[in-house]
Amino acid sequence: MANGPVWVFAEVVDGRVAPGALELLTKARSLGAADVEAVCLGPGAREAVGELGRHGASTVYISIDAGFVELLMGGPGADTLAPLIATRKPELILFPGTHDGRDLAGRLAAKLDLPVIANGLDIETGAAITVTSTIFGVTQVVRTEFGERRPALALFRPKAFTASALPAGPAPRTVEVPAVIDERHRRARVVDRSTPVATGPALEEATVVVSGGRGLQEPANFELLHEVAGLLHGAVGASRAAVDAGWVPYSMQVGQTGKTVKPTVYIACGISGAMQHTVGMRGAQAIVAINRDPEAPIFKLADLGIVGDALTVLRQLRDELRSRSG
Ligand SMILES: Cc1cc2nc3c(=O)[nH]c(=O)nc-3n(C[C@H](O)[C@H](O)[C@H](O)COP(=O)(O)OP(=O)(O)OC[C@H]3O[C@@H](n4cnc5c(N)ncnc54)[C@H](O)[C@@H]3O)c2cc1C
Repeated sequence: MANGPVWVFAEVVDGRVAPGALELLTKARSLGAADVEAVCLGPGAREAVGELGRHGASTVYISIDAGFVELLMGGPGADTLAPLIATRKPELILFPGTHDGRDLAGRLAAKLDLPVIANGLDIETGAAITVTSTIFGVTQVVRTEFGERRPALALFRPKAFTASALPAGPAPRTVEVPAVIDERHRRARVVDRSTPVATGPALEEATVVVSGGRGLQEPANFELLHEVAGLLHGAVGASRAAVDAGWVPYSMQVGQTGKTVKPTVYIACGISGAMQHTVGMRGAQAIVAINRDPEAPIFKLADLGIVGDALTVLRQLRDELRSRSG
């Protein structure tokens, strides 16, 4: 790869650096760039510098204007970063595939007339920059090589990479960048942000995930999943069928249009195993499937398959776990 730095767009959510930035910085360190740098926009950016440095950023560009959270990120973000890109000439900018990441990458692509690759799963650099990504939902995995123009812009799915901090090193350089917030960006404002209240570990970070689908038959049966997940110190997920039925909130959805999880153990209960679901959980180290249909596609992926009624099996599992913990 040529000599320009690799940038990572970092978000701060509820006062914490979002995990996607740390995953991307970890990957960026392995790409052979002379420098790995981060960009963080909005209040909280200054407090994020240390964490971004521990994950590999040698420089963090910050702009703490409240407009980056009160307005949509894309317009102000692209206008603020464009002059910086012109002077710093990054080779590559990695974005998390979040709402703000997508908004900003799309706006930058339009502003700088550059291509952007979305839904990235992996990236390689060498003579060319090549991104592996999913298209047409998740039915196709493709490898796309960027042409000569720089920077290359790519968005990555959550958990595409695993975050790992560096041993202690020097603090990164902080460079404050003036915010460019045009009047036209003020036409739309964010009126509310809310984070669903969760008990137990966050779904994306849990080492055990117990997920339920349409086969659970009714919303009340999710209580059983919560009991089992609680005994295993895990989190509860769901298929889209369960979410669309209004049984559980969208924040619990695993899959293409939901969350990507990579637990040690994933227990799929009454879930058929549609590709749009499995793309969000196939990275689990061990998959257990409970389904009454022996032909259910989920069994092709499962390390342990149990053919039977999910509620009966879950009650037995709960009772066994209770007897062991008591
Ligand atoms: C663009 C797009 C995006 C999508 N994104 C997602 C996504 O992010 N996440 C997602 O999950 N889906 C997603 N879907 C939907 C996906 O295609 C499937 O429709 C969905 O995953 C099915 O959910 P399910 O397995 O719970 O339901 P079903 O497919 O109806 O399967 C229910 C399963 O339960 C079993 N069962 C029934 N009763 C019992 C019982 N008593 N005990 C044990 N097993 C039982 C059945 O044998 C069956 O296998 C998406 C679809 C599209 C088109």
